[in-house]
Amino acid sequence: MKVGVVGCGMVGSAAAYALVMRGAASEVVLVDLNHRMAEAQAQDIRHATPFAYPVKVRAGGYDDLENAAAVILAAGANQKPGESRMELLGRNADVFAQIIPRVLGAAPGTILLVATNPVDVMTQVATRLSGLAPGRVIGSGTVLDTARFRGLLAWHLGLSSKSVHGYVLGEHGDSEVLCWSSSIAGSVRVEDLAEQMGRPLDDAAKAHIDEQVRRAAYHIIEGKGATWYGIGGGLMRICQAIANDEHAVLTLSVVNDSIEGIPHVAASLPRIIGRGGILGTIMPDLADAEHAALKRSAQVLKQAAEEIGY
Ligand code: ADP
Repeated sequence: MKVGVVGCGMVGSAAAYALVMRGAASEVVLVDLNHRMAEAQAQDIRHATPFAYPVKVRAGGYDDLENAAAVILAAGANQKPGESRMELLGRNADVFAQIIPRVLGAAPGTILLVATNPVDVMTQVATRLSGLAPGRVIGSGTVLDTARFRGLLAWHLGLSSKSVHGYVLGEHGDSEVLCWSSSIAGSVRVEDLAEQMGRPLDDAAKAHIDEQVRRAAYHIIEGKGATWYGIGGGLMRICQAIANDEHAVLTLSVVNDSIEGIPHVAASLPRIIGRGGILGTIMPDLADAEHAALKRSAQVLKQAAEEIGY
């Protein structure tokens, strides 16, 4: 599968590197406003192919995205000192207004994978600007938050994260919802399993996991300025599910007609993903408090999108 990456700074290049290391694409084309950066990233990543998979990696212009099955949108402006989140959001919406017509001009049948933050609102922006069906404009959403949640639960229980199933829904950000009530391992609810194993998930342990999931980006930014490997892995996983037509279930952000009664808003729910993009949405079993939290999260996102006119 041919994958384009528009914006190959830290996030875009980490995604491209992950695609190469896992052989999740046959061809990767890197496009950036800064073409020298795209060239350098392509060269650097290409040098890893002998240790991984024979993926064709190159820098290019928009025309080179022709026939790309998916294009990752990771371009964006950095926050200026004193700039509000909404001002940044407005500037990134302008970046998407420049990029999206050019991507679709070259690859009208592609699936857009939105990675630029705030990813849910940018997914809403990209859906409007592209005119594509919502299932073909996919935000990475809480794919990474879900991975963090599973990883921390697994660590607590002493299990493989692949054997722990739990989801983070709603906004990729402060209002996200950790679905404790439906999290399971070995068919047992994690709280009951933790009790069985003598490692109870008491309030303090749950609060710690919640903080480590919800505030992960803040902690990483304090140490290294930005986050890129985790999201790079998540973007690779989405491409892999498309390439292999997996019908995998991942928590991804897509514009929904309604989430908890909030109309026309992009937020993460468990989605079925395959070659055609999002093939379906699963409405999870939630406790009352989780339903209420998901509604609040959808409201936060709806308001942010409305504030910039989307
Ligand atoms: P992140 O950490 O989110 O990856 P970076 O600043 O490292 O952020 O990367 C963002 C990339 O997006 C930069 O390489 C920048 O040149 C690119 N970019 C910004 N605006 C545009 C645009 N209009 N078209 C293409 N690329 C862009």
